[in-house]
Amino acid sequence: MKYTEGPEIRDTKAPEGPIEGRWEKRKFSARLVNPANKRKLHVIVVGTGLAGGSAAATLGELGYNVTSFCYQDSPRRAHSIAAQGGINAAKNYRGDGDSIYRLFYDTVKGGDFRARESNVYRLAEVSVNIIDQAVAQGVPFAREYGGLLDTRSFGGAQVSRTFYARGQTGQQLLLGAYQALERQIAAGTVTMHTRHEMLDLIVSDGRARGVIVRDMVTGEIERHFADAVVLATGGYGNVFFLSTNAKGCNTTAIWRAHERGAYFANPCYTQIHPTCIPVSGEYQSKLTLMSESLRNDGRVWVPLKKNDTRAPGDIPEEERDYYLERIYPAFGNLVPRDIASRAAKNVCDEGRGVGPGGLGVFLDFRDAINRLGRDAVEKKYGNLFEMYERITGENPYDVPMRIYPAVHYTMGGLWVDYDLQSTIPGLFVIGEANFSDHGANRLGASALMQGLADGYFVLPTTIGDYLADGPFGDVDEEAVAEAEIKVRSKIERLMSVNGTRTPDSFHRELGKLMWDYCGMERTEESLRKALERIPELREEFWQNVKVTGTAEELNQVLEKAGRVADFFDLAELMCLDALVRTESCGGHFRAESQDADGEALRDDENFAHVSAWERTPDGPVLHKEPLEYEYVKMTQRSYK
Ligand SMILES: Cc1cc2nc3c(=O)[nH]c(=O)nc-3n(C[C@H](O)[C@H](O)[C@H](O)COP(=O)(O)OP(=O)(O)OC[C@H]3O[C@@H](n4cnc5c(N)ncnc54)[C@H](O)[C@@H]3O)c2cc1C
Repeated sequence: MKYTEGPEIRDTKAPEGPIEGRWEKRKFSARLVNPANKRKLHVIVVGTGLAGGSAAATLGELGYNVTSFCYQDSPRRAHSIAAQGGINAAKNYRGDGDSIYRLFYDTVKGGDFRARESNVYRLAEVSVNIIDQAVAQGVPFAREYGGLLDTRSFGGAQVSRTFYARGQTGQQLLLGAYQALERQIAAGTVTMHTRHEMLDLIVSDGRARGVIVRDMVTGEIERHFADAVVLATGGYGNVFFLSTNAKGCNTTAIWRAHERGAYFANPCYTQIHPTCIPVSGEYQSKLTLMSESLRNDGRVWVPLKKNDTRAPGDIPEEERDYYLERIYPAFGNLVPRDIASRAAKNVCDEGRGVGPGGLGVFLDFRDAINRLGRDAVEKKYGNLFEMYERITGENPYDVPMRIYPAVHYTMGGLWVDYDLQSTIPGLFVIGEANFSDHGANRLGASALMQGLADGYFVLPTTIGDYLADGPFGDVDEEAVAEAEIKVRSKIERLMSVNGTRTPDSFHRELGKLMWDYCGMERTEESLRKALERIPELREEFWQNVKVTGTAEELNQVLEKAGRVADFFDLAELMCLDALVRTESCGGHFRAESQDADGEALRDDENFAHVSAWERTPDGPVLHKEPLEYEYVKMTQRSYK
């Protein structure tokens, strides 16, 4: 796949000056919209997860007219509800040395020095407000015996800053955002459209002015207009088919915005989570996460000997290799996800993996149960243990869990500036759908923090600065008609192929290809193979896919086919991005670029930039945004 290089891109919105004062400065310089004018302005928010739900509720509360969309039957079914382990915040309730600066530092380092300093500092700063907001909403965070909010540790940190609600933190936070959203729906400031899928962005006179959606129940194609559009449509990890994401997660909204001119940043940065239940068979369509919080008390190990098939209880202490504690004594089992995942792959590649096929390592609670007692362990992790037992038939109180890395999160997404605005004026992107704060690897418990920071605090301020120039008048009818025709013809094309293969079978094949060639480890050779094979498979898809039913009814095969079509195009860009970035960094591990210990080896001279891709009729154009570090010194990451 050929590409060209275009001019550099820069974020022009982050103020200059000391980093501690930048967000304050931006808040003050952002123009305000007076309450009477807010009522004349209309904002579309696509997505009702933590990012979109919190944004729509807050914008409604501020007095804007908001129209909100999601493809589920209820806003509270967004994928955010699956989040288990917790949410980070620099509250320092434990007095263990935490601070805003430390959270900022850990996040920049955890992201392998590939995130913007200004954004990350703001994230750490705002994190403390999120907890207050959620507590005020009644989110039932875990508390200690004395009544104070409890915390635990997550990877990449030596302090305990993760707030949690058992293993259901996302669910509880989403219920908080959802009730705030429902309140605005009842107040009439937010109009909610469930079971509607955004299929295109309307760009009129260079501004994002609306969306084309399909009513998923009737099949009707609708147009909706606004003065600004916010995409909060989540991540695209399902391009790999097997992932921990909800089955519905897809790339369509951001991909179609990309086709309309929004740059796509760092598409190849994928997070592989180290603690998931291993794949168990050919027909599996979903992987299950075992929260990172389990690594607070669970110890990861494999047998010292290769091909050791003894039951774990029969392997004596001296014949076990607690490899994370051995290799990374400073962080032990709490190294960041990219590091823990690669370490698991390495011991399995050596032939020391456990379970069927040798693709697994133990996560063992024996010592924690002996130390804390079974009850205490059950209180902290009970629902996760139950989930594990239901899926595997093994009781983790008695035998260690078996875990293996799996695709979990995508750090890439639409490029946004400090105001969270994309390269299309009036198109804002928040939550996992943007690329903004995590660099090449996201630390655990930081996605919820980012989604809620964006939705409750950042976007509601920055969008005002844009809307101060509105309302923007009528939307160009030609632009609307063109977008609508594009959507209709894509649907007609999918319906008319009438081939022999299901969209799912193509998705499964594409996912396997992505995992094999652009997964935990990438090489020039594997990426070139993927770039050769993806267009062939896409061609076959368009010749041979079979979409049953009609377009004028509830049709999940049609929905799936449209999403798979976009996954093909995205997969190609991901592989190209991974091929061009010849360094290793965070979750992007190029086998050709490793140090003597097998750790990711960055190339700061050539790759200390964000890769922002523009889609043009002549092929992808790469724009680089240089990353400059004033506060955190770029070093080779060490967790030893
Ligand atoms: C199993 C699991 C556990 C996790 N645990 C944690 C954790 O403990 N801590 C942490 O910080 N992070 C965790 N994460 C990550 C975190 O849950 C997600 O990154 C985060 O919830 C994403 O939120 P979001 O609001 O950006 O998107 P989502 O919650 O994915 O919401 C996307 C929304 O967009 C809508 N949408 C998408 N496309 C369209 C379209 N075309 N048209 C209309 N609507 C559309 C959907 O309907 C949905 O409402 C976990 C992830 C997984 C998979």
